[in-house]
Amino acid sequence: MKTELSTMILARIRDIPDYPQPGVLFKDITPLLDDPVAFAAVVDELAGLHQVDKIVGIEARGFILAAPVAYRAAAGFVPVRKKGKLPAATLEASYDLEYGSATIEVHADAFQPGDRVLIVDDVLATGGTAEATVELVSRAGAEVVGVAVLMELAFLKGRERLTGVDTHALVIV
Ligand code: AMP
Repeated sequence: MKTELSTMILARIRDIPDYPQPGVLFKDITPLLDDPVAFAAVVDELAGLHQVDKIVGIEARGFILAAPVAYRAAAGFVPVRKKGKLPAATLEASYDLEYGSATIEVHADAFQPGDRVLIVDDVLATGGTAEATVELVSRAGAEVVGVAVLMELAFLKGRERLTGVDTHALVIV
């Protein structure tokens, strides 16, 4: 059954075919961000999922959601960025993409031992990014209590790469 929230979200995520490359159906969340009622409902829902010390946002669209969620949840915000963007000492994790690989980083001192962390991103696709982020945050000494996304693309089976991690999607398509 569709909830009011999922209906509101689905009506405000736009499909852009063949972006950024042919064959990809890009989920554009800008119409949702542009709607103050929908944006606030999404942030409130994500902020209420878990009691945590830190919210991790995944570059770049994850930042847009994770920062207000951290504020709402009275938690800290920690950015996970593409390699080379963070100024202080980092830990890194690499993962495979369809073509090539990617490396993400987090500041080595971003967490206190045992910090409870929720990882937030906009879209869960193949799960490679979220899986690498879970590994990175765990290696940095924190406890990952969950991964939360606005939208899960179920046909890409990203959830299967997150076994043992509480994975929550506000909408699943
Ligand atoms: P993946 O590692 O395959 O789960 O990809 C997740 C990351 O890529 C997220 O940070 C998303 O922002 C982005 N992403 C992947 N597929 C899409 C898509 N179809 N539409 C929008 N963003 C996507």
